[in-house]
Amino acid sequence: MRHLPYFCRGEVVKGFGRGSKELGIPTANFSEQVVESFPPDISTGIYYGWACVGNGDVHKMVLSIGWNPFYRNTKKSVETHIIHTFKEDFYGEILSIVIVGYIRPEKNFDSLEALISAIQEDIEEAKRQLDLPEHLKLKEDNFFHLPEGKIGNN
Ligand code: ADP
Ligand code: MG
Repeated sequence: MRHLPYFCRGEVVKGFGRGSKELGIPTANFSEQVVESFPPDISTGIYYGWACVGNGDVHKMVLSIGWNPFYRNTKKSVETHIIHTFKEDFYGEILSIVIVGYIRPEKNFDSLEALISAIQEDIEEAKRQLDLPEHLKLKEDNFFHLPEGKIGNN
């Protein structure tokens, strides 16, 4: 797939309040400005990769690149679900991600149950893929280990 691996860093902002957290799958949203910096031809859909909040540990993640309902689906949104349980929300913090691979295109679901089980399958697929040696090595990438103070400068 073109553009992958894709490295990206930016502030976590408020999303659309679609209740992702209530479903047990909170998604950290990037600002419009960060989304605009993505390659315009990057495919919408579900991806997997690595993510880190501030100077914290690097965790597995699943990511959705979708159409942003605020802009009548003319602009994209980028949302990261980190496969880790955090003690607190981290709005305003710097999220660093590397997008490693593609799972599937966006889909419409008949029910909430169908949506949730699809996401659970995406999470399992992400976990399996990221355990492969070629994908594990990106976890150790220097991108995630910037010297103190450098984070957030780009
Ligand atoms: P919003 O519509 O504001 O994006 P969500 O219901 O999607 O609200 O929740 C996202 C927020 O939840 C994130 O911005 C972050 O602060 C917090 N959060 C807590 N745990 C996670 C996690 N494992 N992955 C992503 N976000 C998380
Ligand atoms: Mg969200």
